[in-house]
Amino acid sequence: MAGIDIEGLATVYPNGVRAVDGLDLHVADGEFFALLGPSGCGKTTLLRTIAGLENASEGTVRIDSADVTRTEPGKRGVAMVFQDYALFPHMTVSENITYPLKVRRVAASTRTETAERTAAELSLDGLLERRPGQLSGGQQQRVALARAIASQGKVLLLDEPLSNLDARLRLEARTFLKKLQRDLGITTVFVTHDQAEALALADRIAVMQSGKLRQLGSPREVFARPSNTFVANFIGSTPMNLVDGVVEANGSVSLVGGSLPAATGSVPEGAEVTVGVRPEYLTLAPAGSGLQDGESIRGEVVVAENLGTSSLVSVDCDGTLIGVTVPEEDEPEPGAPVVLTAPERRVLLYDKESGELLA
Ligand code: ATP
Repeated sequence: MAGIDIEGLATVYPNGVRAVDGLDLHVADGEFFALLGPSGCGKTTLLRTIAGLENASEGTVRIDSADVTRTEPGKRGVAMVFQDYALFPHMTVSENITYPLKVRRVAASTRTETAERTAAELSLDGLLERRPGQLSGGQQQRVALARAIASQGKVLLLDEPLSNLDARLRLEARTFLKKLQRDLGITTVFVTHDQAEALALADRIAVMQSGKLRQLGSPREVFARPSNTFVANFIGSTPMNLVDGVVEANGSVSLVGGSLPAATGSVPEGAEVTVGVRPEYLTLAPAGSGLQDGESIRGEVVVAENLGTSSLVSVDCDGTLIGVTVPEEDEPEPGAPVVLTAPERRVLLYDKESGELLA
């Protein structure tokens, strides 16, 4: 088992694109770590640079404290699973799983034993003599994982491991992967563009934009306290409400339709800010519910969208739509006058220019 230390890392392609642009990152021993960000932000390039499949242009990569920046991929102690699994179609499942061991000239008897043990761990028993073409997508994905695990790398690198599976299988595979990682305790870095997947699986998430790190934290932290409006917009299945506001003297912030309590910290009275509140943290009540000025905003229900057990209600507050999630049974009628409020610690203030979290 091993940690990964990345310092001042940049990966520049021959065409001049700085796909990874000055990155510092520590992945702890045994951690399940997600690289998350929109298409083209450099996640795959970062993963490939850790694996040694791309050359670092600047900075260092350490695995288990050893500097591997110039070490060839096969000698870094990493096992990688590619998005398309990269299984050998002419080989059996057993041969696929033990291929890395064969390359290292491990004895046939040990290979057979490893194949059987790994297949059992990954629920592939009984499939060892099949070829990849005779397997379902989920089974192929598990063979690719089995091969990576059987190679006994110190760290496991997964490039969009679930993206080739259909929605239902993906959920199943997600649970399987989380349990497997926990049981094996192997340091794992996985790339995904799916924020829900990162939130569900990872111990910590690095959110990337244009080759740079925008936030590093636990799923809870990046969800509840995004450190900038980019992360606020990217994380969450319903987008965070981001609206203009002005800081008031009494520890509140005025915005469309009223004001909300806010921990304003060192942000001075009168400062113009972007106010961020997640729909999940707002509560909705019929107008006239006794909420004081300074702790609520008024509006009118426009429409409600069913999300399964909850509903996303759009409320028109002085011409701006604010989203609020409510239990399905509390869904209000369109046109109903309502008030919205949120606890002080859920009301975030961002710099209007830079989008960075102020308080
Ligand atoms: P996706 O989710 O779409 O796979 P990503 O976040 O993994 O995106 P990368 O594939 O790492 O992003 O690409 C980062 C940037 O580097 C992009 O601008 C991309 O166009 C560029 N890029 C990727 N591979 C190469 C290459 N071989 N040569 C030149 N530029 C590249």
